[in-house]
Amino acid sequence: MKVRADVAELLRAGYSNTAIARMLGVDRECTVAPARAALGIPKVKPGFKAAGSIEDLFWRRVRPLDDGHMQWDGYRAKNGVPVLRHNGCNQTAHRVAFRIAHQREPEGRVRPGCDRDGCVAPACQTDRITRAEARKVDALYGAIFGGAA
Ligand SMILES: [Zn+2]
Repeated sequence: MKVRADVAELLRAGYSNTAIARMLGVDRECTVAPARAALGIPKVKPGFKAAGSIEDLFWRRVRPLDDGHMQWDGYRAKNGVPVLRHNGCNQTAHRVAFRIAHQREPEGRVRPGCDRDGCVAPACQTDRITRAEARKVDALYGAIFGGAA
C-alpha cells in the first residue's frame, strides 16, 4: 500500500493512531492503522507521555497544512525564527525538522527548500549538502536536456 509521507513521519515519531488522525485530519482505521501495519511500527502504549525528545516537542508544535507543508505554532525568537528549548538547549525548528527527515546533523544553515514562507515540514528542509546536491542535479539536467531547468 502507499503510505502518506506525513503519516509515516508521525508514526516513526512515536505518535498513536488517534493522535495522528487528529493532527492530520485523516481516518484512524482506514489510513493510520493500515500505514502502521505496512511500516511494521508497533502500537503505542496508552497514557500521557512527557516530551521525551526535542523531536517529540517539535511534533507538538507544528500544524500540517492542506498542501503538505507545515506551519510552526510554537515560540519564535525576536528575529522571527521558530525555536524550541529542550533540556536547556535552544534549537531552530528547521534544524530539528531536518534531523527528522535526514537522520543526521545538518551542515551549515537549514532553510526550507519549498516556496512556502517559514515552512517547517521535515521533508522541505535543506542544508548546505542537500542544496549542493540539488544544484548538481540541475546542472546534470541542463547538460542532458539543454537550457536552464
Ligand atoms: Zn514546505
